[in-house]
Amino acid sequence: MTGTAGARYQLGVVGAGIVGLALAREALRRRPGLTVVVLEKEGEVAQHQSGHNSGVVHTGIYYPPGSLKARLCVEGAARMREYCQEHGLAWRELGKLIVATRPEECAGLAALLERGRANGVRDLERLGPAGIRDLEPHLGGLEAIWSPHTAITDYGAVARALAAEVRAAGGRVLTGWRVTAIARGPAAVEIANDRGDRVEVARLVTCAGLQADRVAALSGDGRDPAIVPFRGDYWLLRPGGRTGVRHLVYPVPDPALPFLGVHLTPRLSGEVWVGPNAVLATAREGYRRTDVNWADLGAALAHPGLRRLARRHWRAAVGEYRRDFSRRRLAREVRRYLPALTARDLRWGPSGVRAQALGADGQLVDDFLVEDQDHRVVHLRNAPSPAATSSLAVAALLADRLQW
Ligand SMILES: Cc1cc2nc3c(=O)[nH]c(=O)nc-3n(C[C@H](O)[C@H](O)[C@H](O)COP(=O)(O)OP(=O)(O)OC[C@H]3O[C@@H](n4cnc5c(N)ncnc54)[C@H](O)[C@@H]3O)c2cc1C
Repeated sequence: MTGTAGARYQLGVVGAGIVGLALAREALRRRPGLTVVVLEKEGEVAQHQSGHNSGVVHTGIYYPPGSLKARLCVEGAARMREYCQEHGLAWRELGKLIVATRPEECAGLAALLERGRANGVRDLERLGPAGIRDLEPHLGGLEAIWSPHTAITDYGAVARALAAEVRAAGGRVLTGWRVTAIARGPAAVEIANDRGDRVEVARLVTCAGLQADRVAALSGDGRDPAIVPFRGDYWLLRPGGRTGVRHLVYPVPDPALPFLGVHLTPRLSGEVWVGPNAVLATAREGYRRTDVNWADLGAALAHPGLRRLARRHWRAAVGEYRRDFSRRRLAREVRRYLPALTARDLRWGPSGVRAQALGADGQLVDDFLVEDQDHRVVHLRNAPSPAATSSLAVAALLADRLQW
């Protein structure tokens, strides 16, 4: 939908993923009657990360105390629960086990438990092998953290509910509107799309996910940190038998790497997904293993930060690629905590692509990152997992930055 030439709004948002939509809703709740427009290049909302993820509502165990992720995950999970309940959206509090399978992982597990408690995560427990088996009879493991309030939901449905609320409150969500230019004028910010339509806004917030660096650059801001896309592939677990699980099951993550390791996630449909792994994506917005976008791939490979990162983590990267193409290797990895699993229990599943910000120095940006040079143009530059969980709290943070 277009028909917006010359329109003027008090707030513009680029990106109708879960975060951009949550922000538009938050702004309208704070200032009823505000004129708001959300500009989205796809034909529907939530077509990228918000519609291709594990659907887990994290409780906030993993993140360094004091970080935005720690605070906004705990706060966001509570808000998400309320939102899903108020709007009749799916919410299943299945609970999650983080399982140590090697003696050397037990110290990491104890540190995680401490961290989770420091972050204010409720009701965490440490379990031994018998406690693990009581919850999941087919699981092996030496020790585990039990997080009873970890839930699953459908973030695509949450995003659609947010869009409906924005529209009902008088905001506009314009799909098929690809932002190609952003110009800061003395009184307003002018935004144009690829068809030459223009809108003016007093304040602009960009929540462009996998395109966050490119959209920030349109307004004259730097490309650094760049977005490096990491594809995550899932496999489907054969239902029932000696591999059936009812809860979410995660390994102890490697603290040097930003992703959580291959885990088991029961879905609302009743399926169990195994994954995601993490390999460099050959297209920022391609969801098949064979999708290649040469501009995206060239930009990633030319980035000096990626070369530095690869030098540090090449072993882990090779392992991820091997598992990506070999069910047998993946099964071997998962067998550490689900001993009966064989390659025959796994079928190819869907994929998602994570937007991860990376500095030119090769450091991954760990925390959520908001850049606001003058309060008129604010960029959300890093919003990886748990940003879907945290979306309603991230929206409040962004709305605070606008300083009307
Ligand atoms: C495989 C995977 C598993 C994950 N699992 C979880 C999980 O279990 N729990 C959790 O909390 N988080 C999870 N995440 C992370 C979570 O999905 C994201 O952090 C969250 O969806 C980010 O939302 P967003 O609105 O910032 O980005 P997106 O959903 O990517 O939205 C950005 C939007 O901006 C639009 N856009 C970009 N450029 C332009 C432009 N030029 N003009 C107009 N529009 C533009 C895009 O089309 C897109 O719709 C996972 C992510 C992945 C990939």
